[in-house]
This record gives sequence, structure tokens and C-alpha cells, in this order.
Amino acid sequence: MIRTLVTIFAGLLGLAFGSFLNVCLSRWPESESIVHPRSHCRDCDHTLAWWENVPLVSWLALRGRCRGCKSGIGWRYPLVELAIGVLWADSAWRAFSLLLDLGLDFGSSDAYKTLIFALGSMILYWLLVALAVLDMENLWLPDWLTLPGTLTGFLLTLLQFGLTSSSVFNKYGAFGVQPRLLSWFALQWILGMLAAAGLILLIRWTYWLVRRREGLGLGDAKLMALLAAWLGLPGALLAFALGIVLGAVVAIGLLAAPRTYADAAAWALTKLPLGTFLCIGGIACGLWGQQIMAMYLRLAGF
Ligand SMILES: [Zn+2]
Repeated sequence: MIRTLVTIFAGLLGLAFGSFLNVCLSRWPESESIVHPRSHCRDCDHTLAWWENVPLVSWLALRGRCRGCKSGIGWRYPLVELAIGVLWADSAWRAFSLLLDLGLDFGSSDAYKTLIFALGSMILYWLLVALAVLDMENLWLPDWLTLPGTLTGFLLTLLQFGLTSSSVFNKYGAFGVQPRLLSWFALQWILGMLAAAGLILLIRWTYWLVRRREGLGLGDAKLMALLAAWLGLPGALLAFALGIVLGAVVAIGLLAAPRTYADAAAWALTKLPLGTFLCIGGIACGLWGQQIMAMYLRLAGF
């Protein structure tokens, strides 16, 4: 019962934060303030009444059109709201399933770890949806999102490691962590983040040697570091693999469309938003990472 209530609450909160994210996604690229003016139609400036601003419901009720000028409201709006709502509900459901297993004992370090993990997942999903849309619409992965996002992921990972090892090495006190163990773990994690970014830099450099043209952006390298900070190096590599497969499928789909045949040369220069695919890979990894890895190991015969 409490699990269901918390899940519904997290889902509704996610819809609200998704709605806020939509405002950011429309205004950041134009360098506009995200608080002022109030929500309005970007075509006719009609200011939205409160009931035109309810996540998901309003878009459906208005059938995706502005009430003032009837211009279309992109499907990105309900999709972003729905994505954050579902992902946050999923985070809450998983966390409370674990907490119920722990007997809802909120005093234990395992409970703290679970709550921090849930909060972390919610932040990560919000960031990845934001970056996915920004890269898709503007081919833009701003540093002021990827760099603080990487740092936050790294610090939360260290915190969780501290909570894990504190129950193992409890002679150092309830939350005391053996400093050497923590530094060793931190160093290992940083190397993973550098390796993830390095993979993109290596591809970028190889591409440049062959084609003498920039392929992947530096933003993609920072995004890989962010994924490794949150998901670890194996998680980031899995996100990368999933992203490449997805990107290839989309590229083949675009090639197969008759319109693009005529313009094959222009198509070769079209930049696919790799960052968007990496973000979707990262979200899939957050949701099903362990299952995908287990399936892979089974298929590989381990
Ligand atoms: Zn309008």
C-alpha cells in the first residue's frame, strides 16, 4: 500500500518536473529566463491559463494545439512529461520494494543507501532526458549540465560506497570509512570515467585521421564520463553499445526513406545526435542494465 502511494506520488512529481523541464528545453537554447515570463505559446504569446498547463492532460485536452492560434504543440512536450513521470515512478517502486524487504527500517545504512540510490536515479533520468532532447533539437550538450552532472554522480557513488563499506568495516564507526579504501575506490572510478571519455576521443581522432572532418563532438566525451560516473564503466560501455545500435537503426531507417536517396551526399554530412542515443542507452541501462548484462553473459557462455 505505502509502496503504491509513494510510486503514484513520485510519478505525479515526475510529471511536474517533466513539465518544468519542457520550459527549460525551450528556453535554454534561446538564452531566455526559465522563470520569467509565465508559460506562453511560442507562436502567438498567448499566456497559458492554469488548466492549459497541467502536464499531459492539457496537451491531450487541447489535442496538441494552442488555444489562441491553433499552432501545433510538439509531441516532445507530453513525451518528456510522460518519460520523467514513468522513470521517477519506477525509481520509487524499486526503492520501496527494497525498503519493504528491509522491513522499512529507516535507521540502517542499507536504507540510506536505497534512498540515496533512488534520489540519484531520479536526478540521472532527469539529466539524461534533458540532454537527449537538447542534443536532438539543437545538437548541443551544454557543459554546465554535463560537468556538474558528472561531479554529482561521482559524489553520490562515493557516498553509497561509504555506506556499503561502513557496514562491513564497522570498527571505523557507523559511517566511518577507511580512508585508504575510499581513495582506492575513488581512483578506480575516476579511471573508469576517463576511459569512457577516452573511448569517444579515440573514435573522434580516428575519424579525423581518415576523413579529416570532425565526427563526434567533445560533448559526447563528457556525456560518456557522466554515464561512467553514475553507472560505472561497464554501465557506460553498455549504454554506448545500446546507443550505437539504436543510432544505426535510425540511420538505416533514414537511408531507406526514398526522400533521402536523392540526397545521399548531403545525408552523409547530416549529423545524427549521438548524444541522444547515448542518453537513451543510459536510461535503458539504468532500467535493465543488470538483466541485459546477465543475458549477455549467458549468451556468451559464461
Ligand atoms: Zn499560440
